[in-house]
Amino acid sequence: MAFISSGYNPDKPMENRITDIGPRKYDNFFPPVIKNNFGKWLYHEILEPGVLVHVSETGDEVYTVRVGGCRLMSVSHIREICEIADKHCDGYLRFTTRNNIEFMVDSKDKVEPLKQDLLSRKQPGGCYKFPIGGTGAGITNIVHTQGWVHCHTPAIDASGPVKTTMDVLFDEFTNMRLPAKVRISLACCLNMCGAVHCSDIAILGYHRKPPLMDHEILDKVCEIPLAIASCPTAAIKPSKVEVKGEKVPSVLVNEVRCMFCGNCYTMCPAMPLTDHEGDCVVLMAGGKVSNRISMPKFSKVVVAYLPNNPPLWPETTGAIKKMVEVYAADANKYERLGEWAERIGWEKFFEKCGFEFTHHLIDDFRDPAYFTWRQSTQFKFTE
Ligand code: SF4
Ligand code: SF4
Repeated sequence: MAFISSGYNPDKPMENRITDIGPRKYDNFFPPVIKNNFGKWLYHEILEPGVLVHVSETGDEVYTVRVGGCRLMSVSHIREICEIADKHCDGYLRFTTRNNIEFMVDSKDKVEPLKQDLLSRKQPGGCYKFPIGGTGAGITNIVHTQGWVHCHTPAIDASGPVKTTMDVLFDEFTNMRLPAKVRISLACCLNMCGAVHCSDIAILGYHRKPPLMDHEILDKVCEIPLAIASCPTAAIKPSKVEVKGEKVPSVLVNEVRCMFCGNCYTMCPAMPLTDHEGDCVVLMAGGKVSNRISMPKFSKVVVAYLPNNPPLWPETTGAIKKMVEVYAADANKYERLGEWAERIGWEKFFEKCGFEFTHHLIDDFRDPAYFTWRQSTQFKFTE
């Protein structure tokens, strides 16, 4: 009798079995000069904005040209990046955690042709496809979340506000003239899958209205216990609701308890909470993960509401530009934005940036804020 072999041999169950189907180990992708000098690097320098050199104890050098990338890339854009890597870098390139692209070459004379090639590539509108910069005491690429392109709970878009913010801050990407580095991040809802809460400046999308309920279909498209269990504040309870003269199983939301997280909508598409007027931008400031000068800090809410105003989000970009300008003019060298605000006092931060202060801001998880507000007799009210 003929049969088709499955290739499975019960006597050798592990033979030809693929057990590791994740990405290949990172060092398979090292350029030869990195592989040869692994663990032997002596120091690195930033030669100019966007250009670094790493020097090994063997005498080898690696020159890196860093360019701004984008979080969501088209296939044609990635093909162009690969073409540049093939032409100048023997096919190697790397992405930084902030989606910058780094092209590495192993000798100094290869740097200038690479730079010229990168700067010659422009979008049809005339802007750079591969702007060089993002190093040192400046602003590097903004990390962001999925936004309208891919997620179901965003209160604002992600790529759009990031692009418009980088447009107004472009000079700080190509220069290193700020007191210290400034990290900006965006998350398009408060679940923050992009973890923006430790950035110098964070842009956060925020819903301000509780979910709507489509009682007619809720029981048909959702598991009601799942929707109830999804709520972190226990604001949802089961209920019978009258629809067209008939009692149907559904849920009710205790609106006072709702913190507008959208978790219920994740579980139940009959509970949407996106709303043109309710959705807004919140700005946070002063976070960092570095432990230089002071301990890592969370960002604090400094602007509680700005309209979600596509396509250019002028209120948001204007407020961020103002914050960066005031910080650049006022901070001491090496001071991060949060350290500067703490040194001058948060009340002065609000005054200098022209933001309205209310007691809901800064440490709003505790009222009054124990740690950030200066509450001693030395406190002096400003104007
Ligand atoms: Fe979705 Fe929220 Fe992440 Fe934005 S931040 S992509 S809305 S989970
Ligand atoms: Fe609960 Fe969040 Fe839904 Fe509000 S939006 S009802 S807090 S799960």
